Amino acid sequence: MVRVSRVHPGSVAEQIGILPGTELLSVNGRELDDFLDWEFLTAEEDLLIVARSPEGETVELDFERDLGEPLGVELEPPRVRRCANKCEFCFIEGLPQGLRRNLYVRDDDYRLSFAYGNFATLSNLKERDFARILEYRLSPLYVSVHATPWEVRKVLLNNPRVPNVVEQLQRLAAGGIEFHAQMVIVPDMNDGEVLQQSLADLWALGDSVLSVAVVPVGLTQFSHLYSGRSMDEQSTRALLEQVERWEARALEERGTRWVFGSDELYLLAGQPLPEAAHYEDFAQIENGVGAVASLRQRIATQLAELPRLDGRRIGVVTGQAMAPLMPELLERITARTGASFELLVAENSLFGPTITTAGLLVGKDVVRMLEARADLDLALIPAESINEDGIFLDDVRFIDVRENLPMPVFPSYDFIDVLSLEGEGVSSSGAHVAIAR
Ligand code: SF4
Repeated sequence: MVRVSRVHPGSVAEQIGILPGTELLSVNGRELDDFLDWEFLTAEEDLLIVARSPEGETVELDFERDLGEPLGVELEPPRVRRCANKCEFCFIEGLPQGLRRNLYVRDDDYRLSFAYGNFATLSNLKERDFARILEYRLSPLYVSVHATPWEVRKVLLNNPRVPNVVEQLQRLAAGGIEFHAQMVIVPDMNDGEVLQQSLADLWALGDSVLSVAVVPVGLTQFSHLYSGRSMDEQSTRALLEQVERWEARALEERGTRWVFGSDELYLLAGQPLPEAAHYEDFAQIENGVGAVASLRQRIATQLAELPRLDGRRIGVVTGQAMAPLMPELLERITARTGASFELLVAENSLFGPTITTAGLLVGKDVVRMLEARADLDLALIPAESINEDGIFLDDVRFIDVRENLPMPVFPSYDFIDVLSLEGEGVSSSGAHVAIAR
């Protein structure tokens, strides 16, 4: 059963009497378990839907609609499938106590992998799940592989019942499913020979594996494995060289780089980040692979849209990872706009100094960096640090931060999004507000 949360006005669903709160029980004789069943089973023209109205009455809705015409129904969010692993390096395990409850939910859900690109380990897949993935052709899936040697993967995921991921991927690949894989590298656990074997196993799956991201582990100060240091330059350099050897082979044999080091891997290794073309279709940009190249590209192509902002003093809050890369970008924006920028590099007060990503800065960090800066006309903060409800990871609300700082503050993805609005800016909710001159 799935429950309706919203019905679009004027939609087919409204016309046939579906209401918010209606329980959808079956479609053309097949029971509904979740949003996937609903999406795939309602792809037909002729539909017989059995539903229970909010008053508890069971009704049959027999109708025909034009193929492709949306039904206009939104469903309540699915119950997320929980993770059965206990990885020592798990970021969620490394969260401090006392944050909002949903931050502690460890999902491992192939449905969300297909629908939203969330990574899943597939270690909780049942026979029925395999059947659904194959029947509905849920492809591509985003898979946290980490290591293919079975025994190593059991240790890494801290779960002796983890299935053999190579066999799982082979079975799905034989049914036409494709994958984007990620390898979070924990030094001395799945680097070196283990990584070599893992990449060889994924390579042997042929074109089914669309891309592989190699990402150095990020440990917070609350993690069991926390040592107070990030991966060192020497080990990340060795990792990057291994990635580059595979890239070269993949380019020669398949015409794609196939495996990509995350931005953080290049930064920790002290190596220059590649240009945008390196990342092909940016398949794993959400995983921090090519995000800097994409930012540079957006600034280069949209710089001409920026207005003159002569005399403006603009603060830019960022994390330590991006700090060395910012001056080059800000110099270009300064040359175009005439504004003067000041980089404000914040240490992460919640997760500790090894977490240097700008998008994980918290509300407290932003306040600390800006509260005494009445000299600034405007401040930009990383838009990724706020969720869709306008809340930072430390539960501080953006509107509270904004109201209590002495200058207008705007979340920004790429500077252009805020600065291109000459004489005005946008709040996180999209409302236009004046920028102080
Ligand atoms: S699989 Fe992911 S969510 Fe589950 S314990 Fe490991 S890192 Fe955490």
